Amino acid sequence: MPQALEQLRVEVEACRGCTLWQGRANLVFGVGNPQARVLVVGEAPGAEEDAQGEPFVGRSGKLLTEMFAHAGLAREDVYIANILKCRPPGNRNPLPEEIQACTPWLREQTRIINPEFIVTVGNFATQFILKTDLGVTKLRGRVHEAGRFKVYPVFHPAYALRNRNTVLPQLEEDFRTLGQLLNAKGA
Ligand code: SF4
Repeated sequence: MPQALEQLRVEVEACRGCTLWQGRANLVFGVGNPQARVLVVGEAPGAEEDAQGEPFVGRSGKLLTEMFAHAGLAREDVYIANILKCRPPGNRNPLPEEIQACTPWLREQTRIINPEFIVTVGNFATQFILKTDLGVTKLRGRVHEAGRFKVYPVFHPAYALRNRNTVLPQLEEDFRTLGQLLNAKGA
């Protein structure tokens, strides 16, 4: 239902639910297939995302797009969004009041897209979606439940870029496993 997402985007564009809209260059609403089986959720826009108005661009985004291929997916096959739609200054962590104000938008996006899998990228998104204090290291690469959704945590690509010999192979492995899960589900 692309229209429903487009309508939602117009509403989020006008959102003044917290102060972050004041410092943004662009809203980073989300991008991708509105009927995706996989919804990818990150933390918040960084500088490049803010400049381009699209989540996961720049070096991290390029690596994430490469990782999708390990799952048999193109970037266009999935939907990519963040918990926060506007960039926190200096890439600081989102504040509790910002999360509270912004997450109804993500909830509505999730309701419209109705994915089978929510891939949480990095610690912050994983802990928020799964309501846990456990880190992504302990949770990655296997399916958890959140309501009716299957939640699949993976390392943040920025972390994999900093740890190419150790974390990157694990990230690749986790996306290969995701591909198997999608094939099993689609069979
Ligand atoms: S971060 Fe979210 S709640 Fe805050 S102004 Fe932007 S869209 Fe609204």
